[in-house]
Amino acid sequence: MYPAPFRYHRPASLQDAIRLLVDLGEGARPLAGGQTLIPILKLRMDEPSDLVDIARLPDLAYIRQDHGQVRIGALATHARIAGSPIAAKIPIVRDCAAGIADAQVRARGTIGGSVSAADPANDWPAMLHALDAEIVCRGPKGERSLPVREFIRDSYTTALASGELVTEIRFKAPQGRSGGAYIGFKKAAPAYPAAVVGIQMRMADEEICEDVRLVLSAVGPKAVTSQEAEALLRGKPLTQENFKAAAEAIIAAADPPSDARGSADFKRAVLRTLFMKAADIARRRCSDTQIMASHDYV
Ligand SMILES: Cc1cc2nc3c(=O)[nH]c(=O)nc-3n(C[C@H](O)[C@H](O)[C@H](O)COP(=O)(O)OP(=O)(O)OC[C@H]3O[C@@H](n4cnc5c(N)ncnc54)[C@H](O)[C@@H]3O)c2cc1C
Repeated sequence: MYPAPFRYHRPASLQDAIRLLVDLGEGARPLAGGQTLIPILKLRMDEPSDLVDIARLPDLAYIRQDHGQVRIGALATHARIAGSPIAAKIPIVRDCAAGIADAQVRARGTIGGSVSAADPANDWPAMLHALDAEIVCRGPKGERSLPVREFIRDSYTTALASGELVTEIRFKAPQGRSGGAYIGFKKAAPAYPAAVVGIQMRMADEEICEDVRLVLSAVGPKAVTSQEAEALLRGKPLTQENFKAAAEAIIAAADPPSDARGSADFKRAVLRTLFMKAADIARRRCSDTQIMASHDYV
């Protein structure tokens, strides 16, 4: 199907883009990589009056680290992030970026578009919980920054105000003996996952977990987190028993829908397996072991 007619604008600067979005009002949508928006338009699930193409705005595709803080411009593509030195240093970033769809989608889709779409199956909004990231937004009233848990309000719903754009994603570079993993279960590369587990941890020594963040994705309207599950690991030795207890606690907080990607019971079983695999990879990565991880496929 063809999209309904719309007007197309290509502003030259971020300020112009914000001004245009404000002037054009509720019918206008920013267009970044188009990997979510264009299919939505073709299915006529949305019929905006105007598209404001931000994909070529200058200076918004950077990936850098300043004073221990990682900063990624909203227009950085999944492919660019996957191949960046930051991804080489922080494996959970590489797992997430390199695991999204196929090479075509990764070449065009952006991190800013992914968090703004707030699709419950999108990987960035979930993975960024594991790194306690902040989403930086710029709009007619200036700049503000929100933790990702406040930015994503519900499925397909964010805290973005009218005329506001996501400009940057930032998080503290993991310090000390840190490691993480983000792995899911998929039918095929261009398919969305049935279930995903993300784990980022820091060890106090060889055995004891000093800090940990856990997240599940694609198994509810938003990313699933559980402070109770994290408390079962924090300050404890990372034994199989403790991992299993934490897995059960966070899976109990999930409410996976039965759909074309599998029944709710199937997804819970998949989560158990993924959790133990991700936990093992994350723990081994804490001691600088180089481990390539990727999603499991049917
Ligand atoms: C076949 C296929 C498979 C896919 N599989 C996966 C997958 O496995 N995992 C996954 O995570 N994703 C997947 N995706 C989605 C992909 O990651 C998209 O790139 C991403 O969701 C949106 O990024 P985009 O730059 O393409 O945004 P667009 O499609 O251009 O925009 C998405 C939405 O965000 C808004 N928007 C875009 N940028 C901004 C901004 N900077 N500020 C404010 N609003 C903005 C737009 O108005 C629109 O509403 C898949 C897509 C396809 C087509």
